Amino acid sequence: MEFAKRLKNLGIENSFNVLGRVMKLREQGKDIISFCIGEPDFNTPENIKKAAIDALNKNMTHYGPSGGLPVFKKAIASHISKTRDINVSEENICVSAGAKAIIYYAIHAVLNPGDEAIFPNPGYPIYESIINFVGGKAVPLPLLESKSFSFDTDTLRRLVTKKTKLIIINTPQNPTGGFLSREDLQVVADISVKNNIWILADEIYSRILYEGEFNSILSIPGMLERTILVNGFSKAYAMTGWRLGFAVTNKDLARELIRLENNCVACTTTFNQFAGIEALNGPQNSVDEMVAEYKERRNLIVKLLNDINGISCLSPKGAFYAFPNVTKACKSLGLKDSEEFQDYLLFNHGVAVLARTSFGKKNENESEEYIRLSYATSKDNIVEGLKRIKKAVEK
Ligand code: PLP
Repeated sequence: MEFAKRLKNLGIENSFNVLGRVMKLREQGKDIISFCIGEPDFNTPENIKKAAIDALNKNMTHYGPSGGLPVFKKAIASHISKTRDINVSEENICVSAGAKAIIYYAIHAVLNPGDEAIFPNPGYPIYESIINFVGGKAVPLPLLESKSFSFDTDTLRRLVTKKTKLIIINTPQNPTGGFLSREDLQVVADISVKNNIWILADEIYSRILYEGEFNSILSIPGMLERTILVNGFSKAYAMTGWRLGFAVTNKDLARELIRLENNCVACTTTFNQFAGIEALNGPQNSVDEMVAEYKERRNLIVKLLNDINGISCLSPKGAFYAFPNVTKACKSLGLKDSEEFQDYLLFNHGVAVLARTSFGKKNENESEEYIRLSYATSKDNIVEGLKRIKKAVEK
């Protein structure tokens, strides 16, 4: 039996594969410190869990409208209006089962086969996967260590052609921890207006920022019409398993996203949406506490990484990933690239990290090697894991 040809174009989020390898090794009795999965190690705050339990007890267990319950969409619209300094209503919102689903819907809604879409590289691998899946041409936009993992604005301008229909941005960024300045966002907005290009702005890490103020492209006048903002509850509220995300966009596109949702999962779990309302409207101290803890872990992991000969690491501004340069370490160990380094650390030293290539192929002329470590894990794990990496590299 044959599968549809389009499946050949579909990629995968490699962190789940590495996680599978980690689990297998642990089953064999190996002691592995894992920095590979991008999810908070905290539990969902009690007030949010209670809201879902109350909703269950009130039998909020039935189908709801595609695109979200009006009361939840209202809460999201009010939150976004306040935090992005714009005015949106529930008609601008589409709720879905995670931000990932919104990325899938959004790319399907705006790209035709043959259209070009510019995506951040290194970046969250699902962008490129879905662009290819719909028959689009995925055009990588290099993120540069020399620019604190932002991009060169002239390069972005050069990548735009008559066929460009979509530019994807992600700030704060997975896997680099980089963050886009107001000036960078203004350049993207100007390019979008001049060339009539959609912007997919993935802001899933907007609450996890350690310095400065979060900038959203949606705050730039006129950008609501041409932007699909993607956000969700997984990272900020430690709700990865709940599967709760949303889009904010113009009303016409919101209707199309809802039509896609209607054809796919019909609606997002009804009682979860009450948890989402509590997350947005309830006390925010648990988010603040989690971010303060991530900040301490960031400082610790960056210091320990920079203490290793052959590794250098910029201090990430947001999210919970460190993206150290391991070029010299690879050379001194005689390893070809970050993938060999990843395997060497996992199989010989019991530490799981992700190679740069889990986040897209290397850019043209990219000669450096990088790995990603998620520091959404305890300080004890960070200390022990980095001790192992130091020993592995400086042996
Ligand atoms: N966008 C980025 C940049 C991510 O890193 C992730 C998860 O790792 C997602 C979206 C997906 O989030 P969700 O759990 O809401 O589907």
